[in-house]
Amino acid sequence: MFGYGRSHFTWNGTLRELEGSCPSCSSGRGRPRMTASPSSSSGLEVLLSTLQNAGDVESTLNILNVLDELLSAGTDRRIQYMISKGGSEALLTALVNTGRSFSPNYTLLLPLLHLLAKVGHRDRRIGVKAEDAGAALLTLNLLRHNVQHARRAAACLWVIQVFSSSVSTANLIGANHGLEDIYRLIPQYTTKHLHAIKAAIDAFAALLCTKANVCSVVSKGYVSGLLRLYEDWHGKGTQPAAVGICHSLLRCLHKVTHSTAGRQALVSQGGIRLLYGTTQTCLLGNGLESLVEPSVQLMRKCLPKTPLPLTSDRSAYSFPVPGRPHAVPEVEAEPDEKTEESDDEEAEDNKEPDFDDDLETDLNKLRTRPDPDRPKDLLPQYSRLCPELSHDFQELGLSSEPEESSTSSSSSSDEEDVPLGGSRCRRSSRDGGRSAASHDPEGHAAAAQLEPRDFHSHSSILSTGPSFRTKVREARDEAPACQREEAQDNDEKEEEIADESHHRTTIDRLLERHGACIPHHEPKLYRAAAAKTNSIPGFSILAFPDFWGHLPPPGHEPMAPRKPNIQRQKVFEDAQRFLTTDGIINQVVFDLEDSSLQCPSDSLRFFSKFECGNLRKAVQVRRHEYDLILNADANSSQHTQWFYFEVSNMVADVPYRFNVINCEKSNSQFNYGMQPVLYSVREALEGRPHWVRTGTEICYFRNHFCPAGGRRKTTFYTLTFSISFKHNEDVCYLAYHYPYTYSALKAHLKLLQEALDPATVFFQQQVLCGTLTGNPCPVVTVTACPASRGWRDMHQLRNRPCIVLTGRVHPGESNASWVMKGTLEFLCSSDPVAQSLREAFVFKLVPMLNPDGVVNGTNRCDLNGEDLNRQWSKPDPVLSPTIYHTKGLLYYLNSIGRTPLVFCDYHGHSRKKNVFLYGCSVKETLWQSGSAVNTVGLKEDPGYRTIPKTLDRLAPAFSFNSCNYLVEKSRSATARVVVWREMGVLRSYTMESTHNGCDQGIYKGLQTGTRELQEMGVKFCHSLLSVTKDVKTLHSQRLISHVDLDHSGLDHKSHTCFEDDEPPCVEEIEYSADCPAPEGADLDSDVNGNTASADEEDEDGDGDGGRRGAKHRRGSVGQSQPPRGRLIPHPTRPASAEPLGERRTPLSERRTPLSERRTPLSERRTPLSERRTPLSERRTPLGGVSVNGQMKS
Ligand SMILES: [Zn+2]
Repeated sequence: MFGYGRSHFTWNGTLRELEGSCPSCSSGRGRPRMTASPSSSSGLEVLLSTLQNAGDVESTLNILNVLDELLSAGTDRRIQYMISKGGSEALLTALVNTGRSFSPNYTLLLPLLHLLAKVGHRDRRIGVKAEDAGAALLTLNLLRHNVQHARRAAACLWVIQVFSSSVSTANLIGANHGLEDIYRLIPQYTTKHLHAIKAAIDAFAALLCTKANVCSVVSKGYVSGLLRLYEDWHGKGTQPAAVGICHSLLRCLHKVTHSTAGRQALVSQGGIRLLYGTTQTCLLGNGLESLVEPSVQLMRKCLPKTPLPLTSDRSAYSFPVPGRPHAVPEVEAEPDEKTEESDDEEAEDNKEPDFDDDLETDLNKLRTRPDPDRPKDLLPQYSRLCPELSHDFQELGLSSEPEESSTSSSSSSDEEDVPLGGSRCRRSSRDGGRSAASHDPEGHAAAAQLEPRDFHSHSSILSTGPSFRTKVREARDEAPACQREEAQDNDEKEEEIADESHHRTTIDRLLERHGACIPHHEPKLYRAAAAKTNSIPGFSILAFPDFWGHLPPPGHEPMAPRKPNIQRQKVFEDAQRFLTTDGIINQVVFDLEDSSLQCPSDSLRFFSKFECGNLRKAVQVRRHEYDLILNADANSSQHTQWFYFEVSNMVADVPYRFNVINCEKSNSQFNYGMQPVLYSVREALEGRPHWVRTGTEICYFRNHFCPAGGRRKTTFYTLTFSISFKHNEDVCYLAYHYPYTYSALKAHLKLLQEALDPATVFFQQQVLCGTLTGNPCPVVTVTACPASRGWRDMHQLRNRPCIVLTGRVHPGESNASWVMKGTLEFLCSSDPVAQSLREAFVFKLVPMLNPDGVVNGTNRCDLNGEDLNRQWSKPDPVLSPTIYHTKGLLYYLNSIGRTPLVFCDYHGHSRKKNVFLYGCSVKETLWQSGSAVNTVGLKEDPGYRTIPKTLDRLAPAFSFNSCNYLVEKSRSATARVVVWREMGVLRSYTMESTHNGCDQGIYKGLQTGTRELQEMGVKFCHSLLSVTKDVKTLHSQRLISHVDLDHSGLDHKSHTCFEDDEPPCVEEIEYSADCPAPEGADLDSDVNGNTASADEEDEDGDGDGGRRGAKHRRGSVGQSQPPRGRLIPHPTRPASAEPLGERRTPLSERRTPLSERRTPLSERRTPLSERRTPLSERRTPLGGVSVNGQMKS
């Protein structure tokens, strides 16, 4: 409802209004035929029906006026309502009826076209409807007859623009030479008819939504023409209308360059240089700034594809996979960039025919348990992984402290032979299978016994990175390692071996002197653990941070503010590389595959050949700028994202720019405040062994690189950041996220075991299986030792529900390991909650499901080139042993009636903030998938929500709103879904921890550090108390003070789940979109600008401030007063005669009452127009924004 004049007006009132007070309607001649509509129809429907049937001009005009008033006063919802009532069809019918006459009545046609443009703009099916009504070509024809008549031409062009939202309509118009006709309407710079010129360019751009039209335009050579037009308009016009035209021209170029041929044409016609030049003038601040962004995006898009400077896209690391003739699979799946929606359980591809194709909508499939993937008789072998069930706890009978506790007596299992499935080889292929038998089970001793033999043996793993070794050599005389020296020797290798023992003692001394006390970390123990780790390249060097240890920095680290226009600036710098060679060095300074590489003495040094390391190549681009190329996942040629490398030889306080140029994810939290992490050796030696968030000028955008082989259609993204190092000649490490190596896990488990109280904590580390390279995959059992060996206590122990936690199936998600570290340390601690949890549950943890991937620095896969979290349906015992046996353990627990109460797989998420869970729910899946199944009578235990709800209360980083319980078919082979479906675990989750930080709670605006990640692991344990059936009887009341188990509301947060997590980036990152239109430059305002009055006055003064009130009668145009700035440079057809000229006076007179009635309405609209002030200002020069001259501007 809205006020209309003095009376109160409603939709149903429209008709009465029209009937009762409209003078023209009360005359018998103009009376609309209302009998056509049933009594139930709304006034609007009657109006529309009348519009289609009315034969006379006046009543039609009146209806159009009323409709226009209705629609322009309200919101879009009104127009949507009108569309739903057949408004578009009615207008199209009226257009066809009026327009196909030999001499159309333009008094009627013009408002009709205007209204159609406004309505059609909001009707997604307008194109199809126009075709059905025969209105598309009719409008094109009307345009052709009015090329000399700016106002009419503009109206036709807007309608054509609107019709072109449909591909078939755009093709139809294109096939009927619409493109040529419209292109010819676009003149060189002029100050006249800017409205119509803009309408022509916009219509042209709209027609370019189809492949056929783009091809046609490119083949006709229009790209060059459009570029010249842009240059011309850009050079001359700084007034808003001309800038609008520049925008429209850029939009045309954007559309044309969707095609390869279009991009090539733009480049060959000097488009990049032209855009680069024009953009530089834009930056001078002359009112053209708004053109910069679309120009830069156009440059970014059109920079010629450059293959990565690699000999092959395949990983530098390959490993002979059992059962495969070649280590390297021949055919690669082509990742489809468009499917990259969510991060983690990413729907990358559906290579194999999906047997669960309709999983999301089929209730039976959701509820049916698939058949087991293996025979039952294979399950008993897993009984050994349930030591708590067979352990006799004899030591509990002794009065004194047990000499050999339960834990230590059987805990040498991490040294035991690999019993299941996997390879027994403990050495990598390059290692010649050296025996592992010599290992001392005590890690401390091992370090002492190992001697340096050759560079690539594991024994020389006592070394740290080469740059650090140089530092140590410098520091040998106990002098601080800060003097600048000559570049390190290149005959390092020989020297190295002789150096080694000296190096070791120096490191020992450094440790004594500078080593920080890091909980659950022991450098020598780490070294010993690393010495036994198998890797494809046979790593012999430790990254210093892993060895020395990391402590979270004392304070919180806020997200990095995004510098305005940073992406634009970076793309601009990249375009410079294409246009000029000044200052461009382009020299390879690091190559993982070529250790003999010489590089200039003043360039940075890089190194990545250590556990978890990933950097394949570094190219010095400019003096202080480096392109970095990441190594694809082993045995694969994709999944590049994770990086971890050493950098040295830097000069302090100089901003170095790093560009990681072959990232594959389509967006990243690096665009939303996330920073990479840095570890400085110098800082560590001075007592600050911290990984810290670092880097400025960070941004992530699609680039022009393509794979070296050129086969895949991969799109690469650049992560760029700048770092000013604090110290000269430091040795630093940079990583995508806090590294956590496989060796760190092994060392950590050992230390945990040594630190815990074996009288209370039952802790067993066993080997689940060996990996492909023979690394043991640990599985840990944690529970409370029984109070006594009495029947009751032993019975309670053996009936504790199981909780199974897994993690790090995706190697690039190192945050998952830090969360797992928190969980493990808490579960083994003396905290009363931990004690209660141990008394309530048996925990089975597989902290690292993908050790091989982690060791070899892959991002997503195992050595098989497969995503292990897509193998759970039918895991291969040879190729995916860790998944096969974890699933086997779950089957076994199932078979002995000990199905886990909770299963959770820890992951990291690179594109969302906060920590959240994915769970499984039949009902929510059916709802969200739009299934037709009626869920009303469907019973489902809502218990799957308990843990997320509890976490929302307990864990500051956790966000309930980000949780989701959808069982998507694309996730049907993930751990979460398989454990839920096949094992019947109600609470089966994926936990996603952000790589960035939080946007809610007390950590809002902060990046997560390892402290917060570990805290999350602790809080997850806390939340498990919420699923104990009877907290009080099971355990003492002391828990209540620790954990508030109130399940009632969570009203402190709104529950708008499932919405996208990211606000739009300051700068557009949706690269496929057209260049953004300047604010307010919408079709409506353009159309409104054309309806200054219903009279068809001609405005030759389009550009000179408008001529409101000038009432040249239309009849003079094209005859006595040819337009000075012509809309049409090459008139092709004569304008049609205007026969209705003399009828106009009485008509406008008759309309007067209506205009009068409109007055209050226009007044009401004033605040709106005030809000739109910039727009109105822009419109002013176009001559006549005002409705009836009453709008203030
Ligand atoms: Zn993951």
